[in-house]
Amino acid sequence: MIPPGETIGILGGGQLGRMMAMAAARLGYRVHIYAPEPDSIAAEVAAQFTCAAYDDTAAMARFAADCAVVTFEFENVPVGPLAALGATPLLPNARCLEVAQDRLSEKTFVRGLGGTPAPFMAVDNASDLARAVAEIGVPGILKTRRDGYDGKGQWRIASAADAATLDLPAQPLIYEGFVRFADEFSVILVRGANGEVKFWDSGRNVHIGGILDTTTVPASQHIVAQVAPARALAQRIAEALDYVGVMAAEFFATPSGPIFNEMAPRVHNSGHWTIEGALTSQFENHIRAVCGLPLGLTTLAVKGATMQNLIGDDAHDWPAVLADPANHLHLYGKAAARPGRKMGHVTRLTL
Ligand code: AMP
Repeated sequence: MIPPGETIGILGGGQLGRMMAMAAARLGYRVHIYAPEPDSIAAEVAAQFTCAAYDDTAAMARFAADCAVVTFEFENVPVGPLAALGATPLLPNARCLEVAQDRLSEKTFVRGLGGTPAPFMAVDNASDLARAVAEIGVPGILKTRRDGYDGKGQWRIASAADAATLDLPAQPLIYEGFVRFADEFSVILVRGANGEVKFWDSGRNVHIGGILDTTTVPASQHIVAQVAPARALAQRIAEALDYVGVMAAEFFATPSGPIFNEMAPRVHNSGHWTIEGALTSQFENHIRAVCGLPLGLTTLAVKGATMQNLIGDDAHDWPAVLADPANHLHLYGKAAARPGRKMGHVTRLTL
């Protein structure tokens, strides 16, 4: 157990780290952020900041020496240099990162646990793509195996001709059949150091242009009906990885049941509503889990909640958000409101 007063290291300097750091501070911990970008919005609310590249093993070792435990808010941290953390525990462990960083290993792993992802095939060149399109069919989506997020690194393929004319990026890819889903939802769980697992309510996620727009709890009945098998799969994933902390798994709700899309080995945007809407937020329970503290209740604290992301210029509308005194405004302190950039979110509760 790591008691309050100790230092928690967080790899990654964005809004997830910022909200984790605030939850940790409330429990009396010091937070040390490690991130390559000098203008880290997580470092602004933390006690200490190491600004260094993820492969700077000397900086990583110094950082680890200051921390009782290290966790992460960014799942694309390169795994090799994490050996420099030495005896300081990394939670969730590095295997969780490895599995989640590569869409091919993630989907293969989940299928091995009895989950159902969209049909998929690895693509390394044009002939692989032609074969995948012939076998899986169209429409489909070609994705980079690594480093994709918010719909980046994805190409819709409507026909074999589309596939043949595509200028393939020079990196490992995966082709997936297009899932005709009615809705999207996520399962967010926390697994404690002792193996205890708790789930938050699954919200309905609406994406616009590949970016999460809103999450609403409670979800409609037809999503709720798919939550049990989705939770069972997410729990099998967490147990197989000996996961400690908050994990999210995204699903498509289809007439034949939940189709696994992807997992995030971290707190998740679709769980931001838990800050005001649940008895314990995803951020606080993540901190509790990695410190070996008892987990807090994940139950809804209200009748319902809707989280809306403020993307790009949306953030400039904050006066209008505050004009409704029932809104909970979160701004992440990012300097430039670039298109597609997550600048903040608003949570509206149903009391
Ligand atoms: P991802 O980065 O894989 O989460 O994809 C971002 C969004 O694109 C998802 O939330 C879906 O809305 C959509 N999408 C991704 N993969 C598929 C698929 N195989 N079939 C249909 N829609 C998809």
